[in-house]
Amino acid sequence: MGLTREDSLSDDQVTEIKERIKREAQRLHPRLIDISHQLHDNPEITFEEHKSAALLTNELEEQGFDVERGVAGLDTAFIATYGSGEPVVGILAEYDALPKIGHACGHNLIATWAVGAGIALRRALPDVQGTIKVFGTPAEEGGGGKVTMAEAGLFDGLAAAIMMHPRDTTYLDRGSLAVTPYEIEFFGKPAHAAAAPEKGVNALDALLQVFFSVNQLRQAFRPHTRIHGVILQGGDAANVIPDYTAGSFLVRANDQAYLEELNRRFVDIVNAAALATGCKVKVTEGISYQQRVCNTGLVDLFRENLTSLGLDYEVPPADAGVGSSDIGNVSQLVPTIHPYLQICEKGIGGHTLEFAEAARSERADELTATGAAVLALTAADVLLRPEAREHLRETFKQQLGREPKG
Ligand SMILES: [Zn+2]
Repeated sequence: MGLTREDSLSDDQVTEIKERIKREAQRLHPRLIDISHQLHDNPEITFEEHKSAALLTNELEEQGFDVERGVAGLDTAFIATYGSGEPVVGILAEYDALPKIGHACGHNLIATWAVGAGIALRRALPDVQGTIKVFGTPAEEGGGGKVTMAEAGLFDGLAAAIMMHPRDTTYLDRGSLAVTPYEIEFFGKPAHAAAAPEKGVNALDALLQVFFSVNQLRQAFRPHTRIHGVILQGGDAANVIPDYTAGSFLVRANDQAYLEELNRRFVDIVNAAALATGCKVKVTEGISYQQRVCNTGLVDLFRENLTSLGLDYEVPPADAGVGSSDIGNVSQLVPTIHPYLQICEKGIGGHTLEFAEAARSERADELTATGAAVLALTAADVLLRPEAREHLRETFKQQLGREPKG
């Protein structure tokens, strides 16, 4: 093609390139099914995705990408790069599984679509002006690979960050809750629960008090606020005053500033419980996932490409519950999308054995090439159309009140 950066492509040229992308994605179809199955058959949890990362990086390398492994100090994170200079478009892969239930969130498909999109783009645009980056982002289910990668500045300067998640419905745009995880430990004093309870300090009382106080606070929550927890250790025997208890909590809100306010309230509740019961307390704050903001300009591009492939979508009900994801942190830096592609009949929820089956079903296999195509087509819009990039920047500024991170 030999395009120079100054060349602006006509609509016909863009259409022709897009047809080429669709053909390349179709040519990759058998290989993509194979990749998806290999990932699914070897589920690896948070930060243990060694085989998965090896499979994906080797594939990208064979297809002409320069691969950097172990980025941001994370063994199983990677960046595969093709081309050089601006604009830079990022396609994000996740490949971690869940303990016991394997690929019950379908991240084998997220990785397959991302890698397939990168390769289809590269084949369709061998002389691309700009850079295609496929990011391998580990530990979405806990550990927040993208948070560490974002802190290392790896997403800075992206014209767009693109990924897609499987589910039981196709959604273009769906928010998420910002979340902060906490581990809480109370230290009391053991005593015979019948003979000498007065000599003990009950660490279980302290932990229960946290639940009671959170439930009291609940009546004053703004909508879409969630605080929920479990008891990890509640004591060892009913006839011993528990001297050590531990709980794990998640504080979630759909607004970053409100989350921080809730975090302060939550820590106050924990300290108050320690004070009320005479326990010592240790609070460990985990890695926060920020709220996801889907760039509406990018959503528009995605919608056009999705429908051009003959796929339909639905609008999520306004009151539908949502979770949290580390793509939120990326979306706070650069124009980002995280749409969903339907891979199974409605009603099969994520993080279930049924969904794990769906992620390796014939229907999911059938969608490996189409999923790669829709991501690649959207990335092509960003790479090939300067006015589209400008629009994404403007949209980002409108939605977040600041410039994308350069
Ligand atoms: Zn997931």
